[in-house]
Amino acid sequence: MKKIIVAIDGFSSCGKSTMAKELARESGYVYVDTGAMYRAVSLYCLRNGWMDNEHMDIHTIESNIENIELSFKNNTEGKAEIYLHGENVEKQIRTLEVANGASRVSTIGAVRRELVRQQQNMGKNKGIVMDGRDIGTVVFPDAELKIFLTASAEIRAQRRMDELKAKGDSVSFEEVLANVKERDERDQNRAESPLRCADDAVVIDNTTLTPAQQQEMLRTLFKQKTLE
Ligand code: C5P
Repeated sequence: MKKIIVAIDGFSSCGKSTMAKELARESGYVYVDTGAMYRAVSLYCLRNGWMDNEHMDIHTIESNIENIELSFKNNTEGKAEIYLHGENVEKQIRTLEVANGASRVSTIGAVRRELVRQQQNMGKNKGIVMDGRDIGTVVFPDAELKIFLTASAEIRAQRRMDELKAKGDSVSFEEVLANVKERDERDQNRAESPLRCADDAVVIDNTTLTPAQQQEMLRTLFKQKTLE
């Protein structure tokens, strides 16, 4: 079976990472969560005061982006977690504030160029499942399998709210829905690599699909591509 690159793109809170992680586990491929990279950059900028809810010091972020050290390491369960300058920040990056900051720093061209460079490097030996917003269009335009995942904003907000609540965060549905819509808007309309479906991507709308049905579709597509 040939080794391929699987690119999974789509709107926020669509379940891209669940789908990508499961395929990577089944196939023995490396999984890369590129959203975690933008989130870690966001956390670093927030911590350093280069960004707050209203302002962003684009110049300082641009001049420092190459010095922000990101890496992934597997935890004891074999799950990849992100490190920022050697600190495990997997939990700290999963807040609404950091997510919102990630969608803002990801509009900066210099940030995208540097993270895309690192992502291309991670995939140079193939055997990788990567999820994000621009994987099939910019990072790996020649990826053998491209998926574009989508679902209604309401269902995505409900899923994200359930996740946040399970972690003990008290948030309202309206707050999460507004955050989802705001990020959709920014992801689709930014000048640098806006979120769009690659022409050769397979579109999966999972509004009414069970996780098992969705995984079976992905598994079938993956098998076809590795046997071609
Ligand atoms: O996927 P996740 O919600 O973790 O991504 C956080 C933010 O990072 C997104 O809202 C998006 O703006 C940005 N992002 C991006 N390109 C990627 C991955 C994430 O612009 N490849």
